[in-house]
Amino acid sequence: MTPNTDRNDWLMERARRVIPGGVNSPVRAFRAVGGTPRFVQRAQGPYFWDANGTRYIDYIGSWGPMILGHGHPAVLEAVQKAATEGFSFGAPTEREIELAEAILALRPGTEMLRLVSSGTEAGMTAIRLARGATGRSRIIKFEGCYHGHADALLVKAGSGLATFGNPTSAGVPPEVVQHTLVLEYNNLAQLEQAFAEHGPHIAGLIMEPIAGNMNFVRASVDFTRRCRELCTQHGALLIYDEVMTGFRVALGGAQSVYARSIPGFEPDITVLGKVIGGGMPLAAFGGKRAVMEQLAPLGPVYQAGTLSGNPVATACGLATLREITKPGFFDALTAKTHRLVDGLKAAALKAGVPFAADSEGGMFGFFLLRELPRNYGEVMQSDGARFNTLFHGLLDRGVYIAPALYEAGFVSAAHGEADIAATIDAAAEVFRLL
Ligand SMILES: *Cc1c(COP(=O)(O)O)cnc(C)c1O
Repeated sequence: MTPNTDRNDWLMERARRVIPGGVNSPVRAFRAVGGTPRFVQRAQGPYFWDANGTRYIDYIGSWGPMILGHGHPAVLEAVQKAATEGFSFGAPTEREIELAEAILALRPGTEMLRLVSSGTEAGMTAIRLARGATGRSRIIKFEGCYHGHADALLVKAGSGLATFGNPTSAGVPPEVVQHTLVLEYNNLAQLEQAFAEHGPHIAGLIMEPIAGNMNFVRASVDFTRRCRELCTQHGALLIYDEVMTGFRVALGGAQSVYARSIPGFEPDITVLGKVIGGGMPLAAFGGKRAVMEQLAPLGPVYQAGTLSGNPVATACGLATLREITKPGFFDALTAKTHRLVDGLKAAALKAGVPFAADSEGGMFGFFLLRELPRNYGEVMQSDGARFNTLFHGLLDRGVYIAPALYEAGFVSAAHGEADIAATIDAAAEVFRLL
């Protein structure tokens, strides 16, 4: 049953000698679940093959970008053509305008966009822009939401309610996070208190509207509405970090999902990444013209990037957007993701395993809990040891989910009904062992 992981072991040993922890991004190291990471040799459609040639059904999809699956022919063709025309110029290209236009067409309220290379860069600059545009310093963020690894955002809640946070990483001086307030997600009372105490000093509130970095946790409609109202009332900017949810939960992102319940709902600044690059390093942030024109070269807020709007990355992003804007794309992806989640729920129920799951568009999350959690504290009540058994049970059966219980899952257009069925069958077997 257990596949031979020898070549993965050997690569990991080699990697550890030259790369800290053997990986270039921590969660890849399998530290949370134990065992040896699979080194990917190649991928096609919904599958990847590891260094031993073992095939896995991929539910990570590069943590979201691969919404079409791997190696989509139209995307491949666009990237190959762009590569022959040149890798990088350090001068503007028409494709940057095309991509900005394509993204803005789908995001009401966003009038201008700047392209950058990573979600971290976009989130960091969105904060700087909010501070520059308002002339204020304080930022609100929520525990369990991830906005990249910029210093000011690597913060966890301090002791007590609505206090300034503590750095979550060595190397971040306390002074750097002294303006960052960390609140509990979906906690209306803390939100009210924070604005009551700090309102005139708050530059912006940054949030994942559907949090994908504490597995999958929705902001409630009431909470979302109140975030919007309080920001407006106090002159703070509402920053939606849709790096994960943008073009993933719906064509218009999570913003459009909330606009169904809150008519006219819009954030002031949106941060995008992942899907808009289709697997290439590309991210963006955007907002109203008046805010965005605070950026250099027009305004006083500085931001720049050698590879920003890279011609190969924009070609990849544009080709990806072209596919996902085709009629019916999101309906089909949503239905397929529902089938997966419903099947997993039914299998867990049958095995008597506590299980709660949710999904929106092509993004899903599940918990070994009786009810869906509403915040980070509740997510962390999940049974870690049991999750690890589930993770390795699935991995042994050729199903690759995120190697940590606080990560979301992703279905692509390339996942077939047979893949979904095989995944549910594998999970049913593992649930019986839990
Ligand atoms: C992935 C992610 C980021 C960081 O993006 P990188 O491209 O990894 O720097 C920021 N915010 C959210 C919500 C993310 O999911």
